[in-house]
Amino acid sequence: MSQKPLHLLDAVWRGQRDRRAFLVGGAAILASSALRVQARPRWDTDPFTLGVASGDPSADGVVLWTRLAPDPTAGGGMPPQPVEVRWEVAEDDAMRRIVKQGKATAVAEWGHTVHVEPERLEANREYWYRFQAGGATSRIGRTRTLPKAQDDVSRLRFAFASCQHYETGFFTAYRHMATEDLDLVFHLGDYIYEGPGRDNLTRRHKGLELASLEDYRNRYAQYRLDPDLQAAHAAFPFIVTPDDHEVDNNYAGDISEQDTPRDEFLARRAAAYQAYYEHMPLRRRSLPSGPTIQLYRQFTYGKLASFFVLDTRQYRSNQPCGDGSKAPCPEVADPETSLLGVGQEKWLFDGLSRSGRRWNVLPQQVMMARVDQLPGPDERVSMDQWSGYDADRTRILEFLATRRAANPVVLTGDIHTNWVNDLKVDFKKAESPVVATEFVGTSITSGGDGVDFPARMKDVMGENPFVKFYNSQRGYVSCSVTPGAWHADYQIVSHVTKPDGERSTRASFRIRDGRPGAERL
Ligand code: FE
Ligand code: CA
Repeated sequence: MSQKPLHLLDAVWRGQRDRRAFLVGGAAILASSALRVQARPRWDTDPFTLGVASGDPSADGVVLWTRLAPDPTAGGGMPPQPVEVRWEVAEDDAMRRIVKQGKATAVAEWGHTVHVEPERLEANREYWYRFQAGGATSRIGRTRTLPKAQDDVSRLRFAFASCQHYETGFFTAYRHMATEDLDLVFHLGDYIYEGPGRDNLTRRHKGLELASLEDYRNRYAQYRLDPDLQAAHAAFPFIVTPDDHEVDNNYAGDISEQDTPRDEFLARRAAAYQAYYEHMPLRRRSLPSGPTIQLYRQFTYGKLASFFVLDTRQYRSNQPCGDGSKAPCPEVADPETSLLGVGQEKWLFDGLSRSGRRWNVLPQQVMMARVDQLPGPDERVSMDQWSGYDADRTRILEFLATRRAANPVVLTGDIHTNWVNDLKVDFKKAESPVVATEFVGTSITSGGDGVDFPARMKDVMGENPFVKFYNSQRGYVSCSVTPGAWHADYQIVSHVTKPDGERSTRASFRIRDGRPGAERL
């Protein structure tokens, strides 16, 4: 069928059949027996402990993911041999009408993960999928392809989420999300946190601060064992982009939080990116190469929307003014101080110029609005957010102000709080026109239960009149987008430090086509 294994896996697979390849590689002894692909492995325990996932949908396909991990948080528990994994895609949730099937090879070099890209699926429809290895069968996942680029689409429903610190709460928000009727989910980063296990929290990380590939793999496995997170992945295709904690808090390009030597940090970044790729439903185009990974990418949802998923960590210059929150120093306005890097910025402007879609959406990580945290004439802004990279931000907002891309909307994570912001070229001038809306979504768990509205935020909102809404509880945001309007529901859960928190909709906003700025409903 149309399944194509990863090219590296392909090379390994061919290696098993071509003994000369191993002689050249100096591994002739292994070639004849030990690394033969295991077509019928026997399992003592279920290898599909981490569930299934799908993602990066197109109009004719989607990535299907699983991992063989009978001992998931202790290196996976797999032998070094490659293992054959069969996959099936069906038109029905009972897997009776199979429309695609094939075999993939899960290899130790990639953590025995499987990334299948079935092709020639039908546009804009649901599919179900599952995997089998030996006598073991995975759970069934549901997924969905995108509409064709030229299709008129009456509605898109999606959610976005971020920041799921395992130790600070239960992933109950995902349990609620999984009951919604959604076409897609965006994850905006901090899928894992890299810190060591700490006492006296709701749950506990296994292990120390992450450094090696095995460390990162075990951490992803610990998170992905969570049944609520598994349920969300099994229910919807995800489009993911990492923030800092998938590698190291507040890193910038090749600079770590603690200023470890560059080579040492890049080795860590390579391990972190590999484990991210391994555990996410990403396409071959995102296969990492050493410390680099291609994650900024575009998705077109019929004539309705274009999504430009950004990577604001890998290419950024160092946080100016020494990071933290402080009064802007001259470096903030230096055109060389860049969050996207030259290549990604050009890609974004080219894509926005050519989009032609009704809604132009930037799913990304850090807050774009210039929030001054100090009431009164003194200023304090976050150097880790777009406010530290003012020249880059101004170039984007000036571009959006030209209206070459209709109805721009920015989706943000990172700060574990809910915000709705009007975006302007000049945030200090009340009369500066609104050019876009920023929806900042709170965390799944990071920060613990939270509160509705801390008293100190009243002054901050007074200082920043372009901020329309603020809330400091946990949850996610669900959106319903039609040609005429964008509707956003801020979903919160009553608590995360104990199981079974209840969901409620804290606030709803609408943006109308051609009318920049969100209205509270
Ligand atoms: Fe976070
Ligand atoms: Ca101020």
